[in-house]
Amino acid sequence: MNINVTKPFLPPQAEYQKYVSDIWAREWLTNNGPLVNELELRLKEWLGLDHLLFVANGTVALQIAIKALDLKGEIITTPFSYVATTSSIVWENCVPVMADICPHSFNIDPARIEDRITENTSAILATHVYGTPCDVEKIERIAQRHNLKVIYDAAHAFGTTYRGKSLFAFGDIATTSFHATKLFHTIEGGAVVTQHPEILKVLARMRNFGHVSPTAFDGVGINGKNSEFHAAMGLCNLNHLDEILQSRRTLSERYDANLKTLPVQRPRLPDNCSYNHAYYPVVFESEKANLAVIEALNLHNVFPRRYFFPSLGSLNYVTDKTPTPICDDVASRVLCLPLYHSLSFEEIDMICRLIHRSLKY
Ligand SMILES: *Cc1c(COP(=O)(O)O)cnc(C)c1O
Repeated sequence: MNINVTKPFLPPQAEYQKYVSDIWAREWLTNNGPLVNELELRLKEWLGLDHLLFVANGTVALQIAIKALDLKGEIITTPFSYVATTSSIVWENCVPVMADICPHSFNIDPARIEDRITENTSAILATHVYGTPCDVEKIERIAQRHNLKVIYDAAHAFGTTYRGKSLFAFGDIATTSFHATKLFHTIEGGAVVTQHPEILKVLARMRNFGHVSPTAFDGVGINGKNSEFHAAMGLCNLNHLDEILQSRRTLSERYDANLKTLPVQRPRLPDNCSYNHAYYPVVFESEKANLAVIEALNLHNVFPRRYFFPSLGSLNYVTDKTPTPICDDVASRVLCLPLYHSLSFEEIDMICRLIHRSLKY
């Protein structure tokens, strides 16, 4: 049996079935139905947020966020993220400008952001990579000083808190993904979060074709809605969140114990952070060591992933070619080890034995 980097959580089937029966009874499948409303309410409660809109996926969340803030020109962003962070910027006809990452947190480095600001800069789009908080205070100060908007791609950040608040509470808008591979999922899905009621109104309109009533429209919109079936999966999974988070913590600690004698680097968390253990990235001493570990694990049907490689600055539609040497270096050496609720200690011990063995050569 293969051990992949992740495995989607599935609730007991009977729990989902109950929601499906209700959907059949109501014959209401999508368009802001009762389960979508219930999911939004429960997510806001769980996360301690005032506003949150459930959308079709994390990519459309980013696109709607960029559109809602009416961003133009250059957006300073991180080269160390999933491709959707960069592609959304280009999709919305803006220009991604890469600022190199911090070698300890692997998040965008605020000092490098300042270097990249021009008169064409309209915003900062930063990812809380692996669920590790960005330096939100410094980014906020830079944004205020230069009159820039801030969007956080918080696709990895569900359940991480910083200074007692959900990471979704930072920035003008935070977006997230509820894709099946994420810690909390709705099969496909995502959300946009803001603290500002005026921005919320624009986001809500844009999610639904620009409708303000059945016959009236205000501004351009898109179909960013999500369905009752997806909401039902979210409602089921919410009931299991505590066990999901707890198992990831326990499994991560097992990795920590097994790997502590090896020269591997782990992302540094800031003070006042409660981490969600969304991923288990390790950075080896060299790309050669990384490739040797991958080969050894693959031979034993273990499939870790090179999240995130290559640097997003290397995409053929990114015109800004400013070097990002720290990102390039980390990207070449980083590996995300398998981490999911049903992974066992025995499997982790086996993976770690293989890593120990391949690093000896
Ligand atoms: C998963 C992910 C996305 C995209 O989310 P989808 O729901 O798959 O569209 C965007 N950004 C990051 C950092 C992600 O990990």
